[in-house]
Amino acid sequence: MGKLYKAPVRLEPVHRGNRAAEAHAMRGPAPRALELESPRLARGAGYGGKKRKRGLVEGFRVLTLLYRVGELPAGAFQRLVELFKAYRAVGALYFWSKRLGLSEGVELALERARQQLPYYYRHAFDEDSRVYQFSEVGRMRRPRKVVLQLPLVEAVHPNCGCYIEENTLVVRLGNGERLELPLPERALKWLQEKEREVAPLKVTKIVRVQWREDRPEYLKVQIVLRVERKKPVMPDPKSALLCYVDANSDYGIVAVYAVSDGVRTKVLETPKLRPPNRSRRLKAAAKRQAAAAYGHKRGINLALARLSTRFRAKGWVKAAAAQIFKKAFQRANDRSVVMNFDIPDPESVKNSYLQKTLLSLGKVARNLANWFGVYATFECYPSTKCPYCGSELEMIYTRRTRIAYCRNCGFYDDRDFVPFYHWVKALGLPMPKHPLRKLQLPEELKPLINS
Ligand SMILES: [Zn+2]
Repeated sequence: MGKLYKAPVRLEPVHRGNRAAEAHAMRGPAPRALELESPRLARGAGYGGKKRKRGLVEGFRVLTLLYRVGELPAGAFQRLVELFKAYRAVGALYFWSKRLGLSEGVELALERARQQLPYYYRHAFDEDSRVYQFSEVGRMRRPRKVVLQLPLVEAVHPNCGCYIEENTLVVRLGNGERLELPLPERALKWLQEKEREVAPLKVTKIVRVQWREDRPEYLKVQIVLRVERKKPVMPDPKSALLCYVDANSDYGIVAVYAVSDGVRTKVLETPKLRPPNRSRRLKAAAKRQAAAAYGHKRGINLALARLSTRFRAKGWVKAAAAQIFKKAFQRANDRSVVMNFDIPDPESVKNSYLQKTLLSLGKVARNLANWFGVYATFECYPSTKCPYCGSELEMIYTRRTRIAYCRNCGFYDDRDFVPFYHWVKALGLPMPKHPLRKLQLPEELKPLINS
């Protein structure tokens, strides 16, 4: 102990934060008296001495001693470094457990402190001690419980944390214990179907088991299938099925399926997918709520009301995207598939409910294209420019459609299909016949187009 203090000392004033008090600058060995003067730290002084109580201030004087490590006894210094390492690890566990409100983590930290730290340093973890180091943690805003949401993740395999045994998902818990979760028939079928979809490629399966303290009633288990493949290359558009998907529409999702042999481009189908009408759903929900208020089948009506207000837009987009791919494979008939997804960039999106929903189509489609190995691009093509002559298109609104027409060359079609023409042109293919599907032209439009 005394030896440590005999080491040459360089004392310098050090200012700590705005509350820094004047420090003494000294030379020579530190006076032993310092040791005897036990520190009178106010609580929280370790955090820069924030005001603990309104109206009260605290003053500190700080003596700072600086030692050259090279001049310290190597063995003791090494021991000090080890002590620091243990102290920091315990401190970090204590800090984060405290901050996240994980009492089991706090317990564990205290236990480790008992095992790994000399008793006199454990006061740092004692809330009643005046050298307690964590008094600020309680005041800090509690972070999002990301750490608590961390799932247990493992591969699905008999040698791993989880495996499938007939119609059971077995979650191994350690010490030979296991949790058995029945897998419904539908789930098993789905798994098999997805594996077949990408055969002969092999699927790796990963399980994510999630339990959240804020929703303690659920155990969420996900089996994630993953396939790895080479990036698909652009097939010859003359021998491929062409599929243009436009989400840049007030309608919902519009798809155009076509084939081309380089001489003629033939449109096969132009399905439009529309999300369930939101206002209709909200009205239905209001009715249910009213019925519940009258005490009519209260529980059921309230549950149904909740269900219809909580329409999951993303779920609809996922189903719509899957449908678009499925149809593409049916129509492709062994041809390769080229797809383009025309999705507005988030900046340009109107703040409408539908438009926001449609943004998620990009991510969903990209994933499906990778899963199936389909060549897909994500480019936007104009819907207000004539694909033939480049003139600005004009719009006329009928009850069912917005018709775009060109005063210059007579082109007209449903506005939702205009980007498709530009894509066909960009692929170097001949234009299809317009309109892609029958349109009822308003009388006033006929002379404009024929002129
Ligand atoms: Zn034109």
